[in-house]
Amino acid sequence: QRSTREWQQADAEHFLHPFTDFAGLAKKGSRIITKADNIYLWDSDGHKILDAMSGLWCVNVGYGQASLVDAATRQMKELPFYNAFFQTSTPPAIELAELLSKVTPPQFKHVFFTGSGSEGNDTVVRMVRRYWDILGQPERQVIISRHNGYHGSTMAGASLGGMSGMHAQGGLPIPNITHIDQPYWWENGAGMSRDEFGKVAASWLEERILSIGPEKVAAFIGEPVQGAGGVIVPPATYWPEIQRICDKYGILLVSDEVICGFGRTGQWFGCETMGTKPDLMTFAKGVTSGYIPLGGVMVGERMAKVLIEQGGEFNHGFTYSGHPVACAVALANIRLIQQQKLVEHVHDDVGPYLAQQFASLNDHPLVGETQTCGLMGAVLLVKDKAKHQAFPSDLEVGMVCRGHCFGNGLIMRAVGDRMIIAPPLVITRAQIDEMMVLIRRCLDLTLADAQK
Ligand code: PLP
Repeated sequence: QRSTREWQQADAEHFLHPFTDFAGLAKKGSRIITKADNIYLWDSDGHKILDAMSGLWCVNVGYGQASLVDAATRQMKELPFYNAFFQTSTPPAIELAELLSKVTPPQFKHVFFTGSGSEGNDTVVRMVRRYWDILGQPERQVIISRHNGYHGSTMAGASLGGMSGMHAQGGLPIPNITHIDQPYWWENGAGMSRDEFGKVAASWLEERILSIGPEKVAAFIGEPVQGAGGVIVPPATYWPEIQRICDKYGILLVSDEVICGFGRTGQWFGCETMGTKPDLMTFAKGVTSGYIPLGGVMVGERMAKVLIEQGGEFNHGFTYSGHPVACAVALANIRLIQQQKLVEHVHDDVGPYLAQQFASLNDHPLVGETQTCGLMGAVLLVKDKAKHQAFPSDLEVGMVCRGHCFGNGLIMRAVGDRMIIAPPLVITRAQIDEMMVLIRRCLDLTLADAQK
C-alpha cells in the first residue's frame, strides 16, 4: 500500500486530470479517495468525508449497493461485451430499453444508447438535423441553448454548453449553435418578481428565434435546472413559457436530464418537475448511479416516427452503445430506485426537508440567496445582501469556502460564489442535519476570512 505522498507523486507525474490546471495540481497534490459507503467517502489518510455532491452528481443510490455490483459480476461472466451494430442485440440492452420506456414520460418509447452524457448530446445534434433533413427542411440547422449551461466536453457538447472558458479553447462553438441568457434571477432580474422575470427570460428565446428566422431553427436545449452552472433553479413561469414558444414555432425541445434525471428533482425526470413535454431527453450519470459509464437519448414519438418510418439508416453509433454490462448495472440501479421508493423519498421527505434547512441559512450574513429543487441546492455567498452586492471576484470566496468544506469533512462544490450540493438520494433527515452543521461551520469560517 502506497503512502498519500507516493500516490500524489505518481498522480502528478502521469495523470492529466479533467478541468484541472495541471501544474497547479502537481504543486498542491490530489486528495486521494480510497473507499466509500452510503453517502460517505474516505481518503488515503483515513479521513471520513460527507459527499454532498454524489461523486459528480451521479451516485443517486449511494455507495456500496451490492445489487449493482452483483449485476455487473453476473453479466461480465455471462457476456462481457457484444455490440448492437449489424442487427445484433443483447438481453440487458433490450430489457433496459423496455424499462426506460416505462419510467420516462409517456411520449418516450425508444432509446439510443451512448457511453456518456456528452456523447448523448452529440447524438442530439445529429439526430435533430437528420430529422429536419428527412422532413425536407434541411435549412433548420440552428440549435439554441443557454449561456452558462453545461452539455458536455465533446466538440458538440461543449458548443451546446454556454461556458465561455470552454469556448475559448478550441475555437468553439461549432457553427449553427447560439446561446441566450440564463434564467438567473439574482443576476438578471433586478426590479422584477421571480415570476415576472421567468417570463422575460423565456421571451429571450422568442426574440432569438425571430432574429434568426423560425424556419432556420431546429431545436432548443436546456437543463431543467442548470447544474454545473451553479444550480440555477428557474422561476416556475420559465419552462411552461419555453414550451409554449417551442410549440408556436414547431421547434424541437430537448431536455438535458444528465443531472436532473432519475429522481434528482423529486420526480423521475426534471422535465416532469418543470412541466414540459420534450421531444428528446439526454441522460447519463444517475442511470447507473455512476457505478459504470452509460448514457443515452430518449426519443419521443414525434421524432421516432419520422426517423423509423422515413429515415433509413442513421449513420451514427458507438462501440459501447448498449454495452451489456453497463445496461445490466442500469437495470439493477433503476430497480433499486423503484424498490426503495427513492423518488418518493426525495419528493415527500428529504427534498422538502432540505428546502426548509437551506431557507434557514438566509439568516447568515454571508448568504444572499438559497435555492433548492429536490436534492439539488445552492447557497450564494455575497458581500452585502441588503445592497445586493457580490464579492470582488479576485477574492474567490467560493474557493475559500470549498477549502473549509474539505478541511471539515464535507464535499461541496463552488461555482463562482455559489456553493452547491446534490447529495445521494438515499440521504436521511439525520444526515441532512449532520450536513447542515458542517455547512454552517464552513460559512462561519469563510465569513471570518472575508472580514480579515
Ligand atoms: N449534460 C449535463 C447537464 C451534465 O451535467 C454533464 C456532465 O456533468 C453532461 C451533459 C456531460 O456528461 P458526461 O460527462 O457523461 O459526458
